[in-house]
Amino acid sequence: MINAYLVDEGGELTIVDAGVAGLYRDLASELASMGRSIEDVRALVLTHGHSDHIGFAERIRIDRDIPVSIHEADAALARGEVPNPSKGFGKTKAAPLIGFLWFSLIRGGLRTQHVGEVSVFGDGATLDVPGSPHVILTPGHTPGSTVLDFSSHRALLVGDALSTYAVTTGSKGPQIAPFTADPTQALESLSRIEGRSADVVLPGHGDPWTGGVDEAIQRVRMSASGRS
Ligand SMILES: [Zn+2]
Ligand SMILES: [Zn+2]
Repeated sequence: MINAYLVDEGGELTIVDAGVAGLYRDLASELASMGRSIEDVRALVLTHGHSDHIGFAERIRIDRDIPVSIHEADAALARGEVPNPSKGFGKTKAAPLIGFLWFSLIRGGLRTQHVGEVSVFGDGATLDVPGSPHVILTPGHTPGSTVLDFSSHRALLVGDALSTYAVTTGSKGPQIAPFTADPTQALESLSRIEGRSADVVLPGHGDPWTGGVDEAIQRVRMSASGRS
């Protein structure tokens, strides 16, 4: 429903996205299942500033002194200084939407704290965090939405640049994510990751996609033009 990722590079970890606040409860057991602990986490990187991605960021920053970073164009959103640029729910179906809202609610989605302090990065940066992801700016979902290419893991972490599950309609497969501020720009931005090779495309919502980056993009375009 809402994904956060733990990337292990030689025993040191980067967390990508912080879900909703209550996902913090699952963190210790998830780390333990990898033979790791919170002591091994070095950084939290946010793909964008939406409230269902910054959930436990402030808590882990304060309690554990773990630095939080985000693209410069979404920093103000993560700090809560500007309103969410995405308007409304778009197309919805009642049952999946209620499921998403309920999932968020019982995991503290309404008490998400903004992040007091974030460091920022720009397009094309290679981040000095475990896994050394390369940053590709893919604006549209939000102005500072980024894709993180962990090429040594052959994993492309796309945030909400595309989704494989629409939390508002229940529709599955690669598609433009719900709550996208500028869908036209989001579609155009996908050409920025076209041609990349990765064994797995990992979205903020939905299952991992293992059918290749370009095929995922093709499916998004088809779904956007109503040919899915
Ligand atoms: Zn989002
Ligand atoms: Zn999201």
